[in-house]
Amino acid sequence: MLEISAKCIGCTKCVAVCPFGALSMSGKKAVVNMSACTLCGACVQVCPVEAISIKRDTASKDFSAYKGVWVFVELEDSEDLSAEGPVRKVSFELLSEGRKIADALKEELCAVVLAGKNRNYERELGEYGADKVYFCENPEFTVYNTDIYSAAVCALINKHKPSVVLFGATVKGRDLAPRIASALYVGLTADCTALSVRDGLLVQSRPAFGGNIMADILSPNSRPQMATVRPNVMKVSPAQSGRIAILVREDLKIDKNMRRVKVLRRKIDRGSGSMKIENANIIVSGGRGMKTKEKFKLIEELASVLGAAVGASRAAVDLGFKEKSHQVGQSGVTVSPRLYMAFGISGAVQHLVGMKNSDIVIAVNKDPNAMIFGAAKYAFVADAHQVLPKLSELLAKGLKRG
Ligand SMILES: Cc1cc2nc3c(=O)[nH]c(=O)nc-3n(C[C@H](O)[C@H](O)[C@H](O)COP(=O)(O)OP(=O)(O)OC[C@H]3O[C@@H](n4cnc5c(N)ncnc54)[C@H](O)[C@@H]3O)c2cc1C
Repeated sequence: MLEISAKCIGCTKCVAVCPFGALSMSGKKAVVNMSACTLCGACVQVCPVEAISIKRDTASKDFSAYKGVWVFVELEDSEDLSAEGPVRKVSFELLSEGRKIADALKEELCAVVLAGKNRNYERELGEYGADKVYFCENPEFTVYNTDIYSAAVCALINKHKPSVVLFGATVKGRDLAPRIASALYVGLTADCTALSVRDGLLVQSRPAFGGNIMADILSPNSRPQMATVRPNVMKVSPAQSGRIAILVREDLKIDKNMRRVKVLRRKIDRGSGSMKIENANIIVSGGRGMKTKEKFKLIEELASVLGAAVGASRAAVDLGFKEKSHQVGQSGVTVSPRLYMAFGISGAVQHLVGMKNSDIVIAVNKDPNAMIFGAAKYAFVADAHQVLPKLSELLAKGLKRG
């Protein structure tokens, strides 16, 4: 609520700065049209006599009914429209991280699965830490649909009142989570790269201001606290063989007419011959230092010798050396291979954030002060154009002999 007190001197400064045209003059006093006001606070800042104030609903809300950390479990799409694919790796990453959050909050970790058929999810998800699986079985869930999925998840949230709900920052998660957040009128932090608990609240950390700082975001005034988390950021904990979650079957009424889009046929792009970086064990990555698209082929040659995927910095992608789907970093893909080899990449923070979870990083750069060396286990001050052909040759020979 915006309040304008009797201190108003009618200077009109607030009227001029309001981006939404919510303020006007009535006689010699400013008045507000609350249906246009968004409480942005621009007027509060310019008022010379502090006549304007924002009154927020600060009455402490009781969130004691909200308990449980939920992970929305994403299933792979399959070309067969009558069956869903396996659980996506990001869901195991979220369960592993969710386990730590649930323990810190002393709450249950629950997985939410919407599918046409139960495939022993209580066993598979239990092994990765889930205490409970809320399972909704309906053929309408086999093919993902925004309206049907969001209605189902909202219904479950309203019924069980979890304190935290996590989604993968995937195409589906990025589609579904905002829809649910807006329906429930709660906040959502997108693309988190770290999660923790402070004073009973979920701390949702993500890069801000072009990746130059990490912002910690809290949602103290609404429940559930909702976040999407980038794939490949969280490590998957080892499966605890034999651990089984409690299966809670939820019978939800699904109105078929909600489906406004019908998928008739699905063709999955298996990639154009070059391996995807998302789940690769070894990535050979090149940057602007490779100079030309022709020279970038040296990266591809080494990758082919090692059976590795090809990565690229944004500069290399912008220069057309490689397609965008190979870009590693904040606005590309987050990767966590066992081996990441960086050639001619400076190591800007936006690149580092996408590969810093790699087990071993080898970097080759002409500049001894390159930032990438800070993240590297093995750092070589050298010309990548000379190193790459020799390395490919030696490894090809070595691998043939071995
Ligand atoms: C909002 C935002 C999002 C971004 N997202 C991403 C992202 O997802 N991924 C990403 O990569 N970047 C991203 N960037 C861009 C990022 O800031 C850098 O500009 C980019 O990573 C630089 O790429 P580079 O290291 O290839 O090029 P440069 O920074 O130009 O570095 C080239 C390096 O090559 C070395 N070099 C030159 N010649 C040789 C040689 N012959 N042998 C060996 N080394 C050599 C140089 O010493 C230098 O260190 C983003 C930026 C913003 C603002």
